[in-house]
Amino acid sequence: MHEMALTESVVALVEDAARSEGFTRAKAIVLEIGMLGHVEPAAMQFCFEAISRGTVADGARLEIVRVAGQGWCLDCGKTVALAERFGPCPDCGRHHVQMTAGDELRVRELEVE
Ligand SMILES: [Zn+2]
Repeated sequence: MHEMALTESVVALVEDAARSEGFTRAKAIVLEIGMLGHVEPAAMQFCFEAISRGTVADGARLEIVRVAGQGWCLDCGKTVALAERFGPCPDCGRHHVQMTAGDELRVRELEVE
């Protein structure tokens, strides 16, 4: 389950922020997770409860925001919706689409006290 490692890096990032910004407790963490990535939000929530225990993120609310897939079609020369990682362009049906969104895993907001 790679969510465990990902969650560890999120908690580590919050701890780093706590050290550099001087807060002692995170109240909420808003995490962006792309729909085309291989991260299971439910697994992430589950791991977070275990991993955050005893850290500044202990008891924090983990909010997960899903980011829809998007790509740049080289043939159409525009941004199109992407339903799967290496999926076709919904307009021309070809596979010359470079993914531009949908693979993210990042902390969008951190609510602290
Ligand atoms: Zn196209």
